[in-house]
Amino acid sequence: AKPKVVVVGGGPGGATAAHYIAKDSKGAIDVTLVEPNKAYTTCFFSNWYIGGFRNFESITHSYSGLADIGINIVHQMATGIDPDEKTLTLADGAKLPYDRLILAPGIDFKYGEIDGYGPDATQIMPHAYKAGPQTVLLHDQLHAMKDGGLFIMVAPPNPYRCPPGPYERISMVAHYLKNNKPKSKILILDPKGKFSKMALFQEAWGRYYDGMIEWLPREMLSGGVNAVHTASMSVKTPDEEFKGDVVNVIPPQTAGKIARDTGLADVTGWCPIVPATMESKLVADIHLVGDSTIAGDMPKSGFSANSQAKACAMAIRHALIDSRAFPPRFANTCWSLLAPSDAVKVGASYQATEEKIAKIDGFISKTGESGTLRADNAKEAVGWYSGITADMFG
Ligand code: FAD
Repeated sequence: AKPKVVVVGGGPGGATAAHYIAKDSKGAIDVTLVEPNKAYTTCFFSNWYIGGFRNFESITHSYSGLADIGINIVHQMATGIDPDEKTLTLADGAKLPYDRLILAPGIDFKYGEIDGYGPDATQIMPHAYKAGPQTVLLHDQLHAMKDGGLFIMVAPPNPYRCPPGPYERISMVAHYLKNNKPKSKILILDPKGKFSKMALFQEAWGRYYDGMIEWLPREMLSGGVNAVHTASMSVKTPDEEFKGDVVNVIPPQTAGKIARDTGLADVTGWCPIVPATMESKLVADIHLVGDSTIAGDMPKSGFSANSQAKACAMAIRHALIDSRAFPPRFANTCWSLLAPSDAVKVGASYQATEEKIAKIDGFISKTGESGTLRADNAKEAVGWYSGITADMFG
């Protein structure tokens, strides 16, 4: 019988891993992808949708391309793992046997760290940090907001997915408000004292949205936001209360539930991996890719998840059908759109050392760059999106 690989999670990490194992083993490995949703909406470019630069359909992808190359797609939640028997249990009780299992469940939110912010509260104060209905809700709330209203973002503490993501979102919200509701204001309540590409964002906010955006770092929040009250649309720190018309709460994060429930996460709440193969350091024959992992110097991004998945796919093909393997290289770039035709980027390449995925070299956009360069970045981001989503979803 053919060796069996089962992949949990059809996001950037899981979809890429399934795609590359199926494609490169040319039918020699049986690949099953377990994902409850029929389509995947990317978080990347979801800010562009909020800013009016993309429509929702353009950021939503079906799994038909992966089914077409022979991957079995099972639309269910995975609920448990038996690492001795080597089976994955599904929500309906069925068990799928595996030779290697790949987990790419992404993140979960640590509800309870902000008093009053649980799953019900997300319907009133969306996080929009898992894309889909939450993204549409935040978009629609912004569109329904009155001119002169206040948009509040509660930014997340480190580590979280997409370090520049909240601040690109602020730029896109500001772009929309400037053109549609110019008397409105934006307030960011941040548990951090600095953030990714900060100088670049702050320069752009001054240039394009002067006076509209106020950022309050941890030093000014006496420890940060510790409670929300949805009925009054208020956000509280130990000393102050802020009332918003739209409130976007991005909570603290941890590895996806299935990884934590099955002993794959350590005390940090994230999953330790062997850098060269992405195999779990805690349970044999299980690999992890994407946001749920402790990926050394790599940020949690779709680009990173895709890159890690290719290294993982190579290691698994080598282990199961003895195909060629070489020391993996990893890469990441994150573009952020600041305004129409103005995007900045940060990126790096990485290698696997014994201890971690270690940065080799990197680059970042500079303040004061020319408009042409920034316009080129924005075009590059659009090209990246179509290339990488084809690489993930076929
Ligand atoms: P996810 O994308 O979260 O996928 C996990 C999948 O697993 C989901 O489909 C889920 O349904 C499934 N799943 C979970 N549990 C189970 C289970 N028990 N059984 C079966 N299936 C399960 N990255 C970039 O590279 N560039 C960007 O410009 C960028 N912009 C971003 C902007 C925003 C606003 C946000 C929020 C993120 C952005 N990111 C960006 C980050 C990127 O979206 C994530 O890093 C990426 O989605 C991680 O991929 P993943 O496969 O690890 O997890």
